[in-house]
Amino acid sequence: MATMHTTLIIGGGASGLMAANILSKEGQKVILLEKKHQCGLKLRITGKGRCNLTNACDKDEFLSHVSDADFFAPAFYWFDNKDLMSFFEQKDIELKVERGNRVYPASGKANDIFFALLQDIEHNENVEIIKNCDVKHLIIEDGRAIGVVANNQRILADNIIICTGGRTYPTTGATGDGYRILKLLNHKITKPLPALVGLRTQSGYPSELQNLEIKHCKVTITDKNKNIIASRFGDMTLDEYGVSGPIILSLSRDIAKDFDAGEEMFLSIDFKPKIDKDKLYQEILAAFKERRTENASSIVRKWVQKPLVNEILSTCKINPKTMGYKLTERDAKSLLWYLKFRSEEIIGDMGWNEAIITKGGVALNEVDKHTLQSKKIKNLYITGELLDLDADTGGYNLQIAFSTAALACKAIANQ
Ligand SMILES: Cc1cc2nc3c(=O)[nH]c(=O)nc-3n(C[C@H](O)[C@H](O)[C@H](O)COP(=O)(O)OP(=O)(O)OC[C@H]3O[C@@H](n4cnc5c(N)ncnc54)[C@H](O)[C@@H]3O)c2cc1C
Repeated sequence: MATMHTTLIIGGGASGLMAANILSKEGQKVILLEKKHQCGLKLRITGKGRCNLTNACDKDEFLSHVSDADFFAPAFYWFDNKDLMSFFEQKDIELKVERGNRVYPASGKANDIFFALLQDIEHNENVEIIKNCDVKHLIIEDGRAIGVVANNQRILADNIIICTGGRTYPTTGATGDGYRILKLLNHKITKPLPALVGLRTQSGYPSELQNLEIKHCKVTITDKNKNIIASRFGDMTLDEYGVSGPIILSLSRDIAKDFDAGEEMFLSIDFKPKIDKDKLYQEILAAFKERRTENASSIVRKWVQKPLVNEILSTCKINPKTMGYKLTERDAKSLLWYLKFRSEEIIGDMGWNEAIITKGGVALNEVDKHTLQSKKIKNLYITGELLDLDADTGGYNLQIAFSTAALACKAIANQ
């Protein structure tokens, strides 16, 4: 029979709300401390307000999307994507699975996920939620965490779960406090970097092309010697400052560390990845011949969407009115270069206000992966995005927040 403990949860985001749910169901006392006037501000804007809460792929594939599968596996095997879906279904939330196995509430409202997490803890005598409560320090005695200092008060407990999130979208409360708090206690923090974020490139795209979606393309990032650093196939968008959209977000995560280390990087978009360069070149030449009485604008439409035509022709220095029969081999080479090889230097990313997640955080070798307990401080559990654990877009990051919370709760309940 488990003993009753009081657990302080620092941070009322995805991970903290899940932990409060699980512990209170176990009959444990919980005090949830949230810095903002409301819990779950980030959760409520996830998935563009629709909350892609997890991914319904199989276990091995799921783990392949996580930065450290070995560390995450015990948490995931304890509380996996299917468990998470049942958890919400038991709370009468209907779910739907969309393209790429992304799971959303059928209502399309992230708020429904938030309120489902809140409903059982809000008026629960085992749970006290203290909002506007800014935790500054942990109180440590004999190597054990025994409480916190928040709003100039000491609050004591048997166990502490710290889940203050990362640093992105700081207006939601995720301002990196956990890094500072744990660094003071000699926890190693792997440098936090914005990830799943748009990339700025040297020239960007004209404002009229803002948010233009390019489907089924291949984006490759190389170093200055043209060695491939990362490459992905899928959909992306153009931006005045550079590029964004699904594959760019994933690439930003792939390159975050090397880019931060100062590596020069170049990005190229292959608009026609399914046709090899020789074949495409022949196709372009043939189109010049066959459509000899059409102008360049009309011919180029064969390979790209209308809004891109002017951009391509002006970059390739081809007059849009030139008739097919007047287009030259040089023009064909130029178009081929744009459609397959044009490369631009990456000059940065869109930063903390636009990044979806933080890469980096509490070093995993200082956390027990079977319990999520700190190896440095007893009775202290670290969960969610605060850990140096991250994943692709597709619902994987929220699952990390939920699964790590569930595993820490199991360890606490078993004490
Ligand atoms: C715009 C956007 C869209 C996203 N969409 C998705 C998606 O669809 N699917 C997906 O899987 N992931 C998505 N993510 C990522 C996902 O939201 C996070 O990975 C997840 O919320 C992390 O959960 P967490 O509980 O660790 O941190 P958070 O949810 O950030 O919660 C941390 C909480 O701690 C509180 N806090 C911080 N410091 C203190 C302190 N000192 N004292 C007390 N409280 C404190 C904060 O106020 C906050 O409430 C998205 C992120 C963003 C920014």
